[in-house]
Amino acid sequence: MESDFPNKALTRTRFSELNPPLSELVLEALTESGFEFCTPVQAATIPLLCSFKDVAVDAATGSGKTLAFVVPLVEILRRSCSNPKPHQVFGIIISPTRELSSQIYHVAQPFIKTLANVKSMLLVGGVDVKADMKKIEEEGANILIGTPGRLHDIMDRMDILDFKSLEILILDEADRLLDMGFQKQINSIISLLPKLRRTGLFSATQTEAVEELSKAGLRNPVRVEVRAESKSVNDPAASQQQTSSRTPAGLQIEYIECEAEKKPSQLVDILMKNRSKKMIVYFMTCACVDYWGLVLPRLSALKSFSLIPLHGKMKQAAREKALASFTSLSNGILLCTDVAARGLDIPGVDCIVQYDPPQDPNVFIHRVGRTARLGKKGHAIVFLLPKEESYVEFLRVRRVPLQERSCSNDASDVVPEIRSAAKKDRDVMEKGLRAFVSYIRAYKEHHCSYIFRWKELEIGKLAMGYGLLQLPSMPELKQQSLSKEGFVPVEDINLEDIKYRDKSREKQRKQNLQAKKEAKEKETKPQKPNKTPKAAPVTRKKTAKQRRAQQSVEDEDELMQEYRLWKKLKKGTIDEDEYAKLTGTEELL
Ligand code: ADP
Ligand code: MG
Repeated sequence: MESDFPNKALTRTRFSELNPPLSELVLEALTESGFEFCTPVQAATIPLLCSFKDVAVDAATGSGKTLAFVVPLVEILRRSCSNPKPHQVFGIIISPTRELSSQIYHVAQPFIKTLANVKSMLLVGGVDVKADMKKIEEEGANILIGTPGRLHDIMDRMDILDFKSLEILILDEADRLLDMGFQKQINSIISLLPKLRRTGLFSATQTEAVEELSKAGLRNPVRVEVRAESKSVNDPAASQQQTSSRTPAGLQIEYIECEAEKKPSQLVDILMKNRSKKMIVYFMTCACVDYWGLVLPRLSALKSFSLIPLHGKMKQAAREKALASFTSLSNGILLCTDVAARGLDIPGVDCIVQYDPPQDPNVFIHRVGRTARLGKKGHAIVFLLPKEESYVEFLRVRRVPLQERSCSNDASDVVPEIRSAAKKDRDVMEKGLRAFVSYIRAYKEHHCSYIFRWKELEIGKLAMGYGLLQLPSMPELKQQSLSKEGFVPVEDINLEDIKYRDKSREKQRKQNLQAKKEAKEKETKPQKPNKTPKAAPVTRKKTAKQRRAQQSVEDEDELMQEYRLWKKLKKGTIDEDEYAKLTGTEELL
């Protein structure tokens, strides 16, 4: 019987049958967008919000939460703002990333258009805030959709905006918005809003923090929880359990237990065997995405692949372009950080690969949720190091069942090819080093540090897996007894001799080297006797080692600097904002 129905992710309740009834104009807009039947979360949530209830909604990824708040927001505004003044704000929708805010803005447009004289505005970072302000001043803004930082900035700067008649506030990906990273901004935004308003919190992973806010800011919120049945999971142990899965029913998740030095070869093998698929590969940090985005396309096996990097340190225009081109592809690979983990509704994604598990275990659910959306099937694979295997049990307890998948035996070893790419282009070598350092630094901040124990990282194998030519001399490597086993340094080349493939960059490097040399000569000659004690440790070393040291000095300085900041943060000498500013905001996104 189910199979007769258009989509098993839909209920049999039509939007036109909801109570209180939706307006004709919204029903028309729904029909035009091809939406006739409600998803479970829509059937449950729309009537609640429309009848003056606050809601905290927890429903799987891809279950249709966006319309579950867009439709009621529009209906509430239809009733309450018949003749809006240009700068009277009635509704606000906040989400954690620019891409997601933009997506929500576009999904909402056909519905907002049914409201006469109501103007909505997308407010996200990466564009000039003055331009936003000018636009608001000239055109007015009754619904604000955006990221916390920019929204707060605008609310703070623009007295012209009037929030006294605000009807509804929506936090999409609420748990993320209410965690440490955003809490301050969200609280400041809320403090500028009237207390008597409706609030809706939406996510696939509600947490205690959300519960706290529910207690604080929401008036008797109704909890809506919609879960997928676990029956589709082909795991007898799991299907016997009566608990429902936190991930969509059509999603199969596998884990590969794989030594660090084998990871790139296994990844390339997976990509090659899924040549016709549309895939997303998640990495730990922006630097990792930069590196693999540079090196993977240089591997002969991936020559004809579309590999698109996306992370939050890219320029806004490049971010938009990356997402737009991946969206339009029928097959291709997005290489990204968690900036693309939550909320994005990219059509036709078949498979999610987590090259590195996320720092925050909740993000796991969001990452894999980019596939198997709205009743479709999907597949996800997560790489785990042998020592991380207890993560499987950890997730199982959290109702995220994983199946084992073994390493492919016929994967050819790509490490030599990566290393040869590094020898041919200094950019590859440097980005590899940076990625490696950033990975270790991020690993130290794993939320489940009892599963992901950085002191047990096998640095040697890890460095092999990054295709590094030499082990860098990070302070961590000196201070801790991390295993360097498995690393075979490349001895047949002086790192200093490795040139940038980019001619002008190489020219610049040569000039810098020359200038440094001259400066050093000038400096050391006249005051040689005084200088010796300081200069000695470096000059006494063997030349190869010296070069290596020189190579990593910059990384090391940067790392030590950040480590000092981190300690200050822990001590409370600086706060989160300052820390983020000083270290470069949101390394992981
Ligand atoms: P979530 O926020 O729960 O992850 P989205 O709101 O992004 O999910 O919706 C997932 C997909 O489902 C979108 O492509 C959306 O267009 C589609 N969708 C949502 N509601 C319906 C519906 N009632 N009928 C058909 N498709 C729907
Ligand atoms: Mg969503």
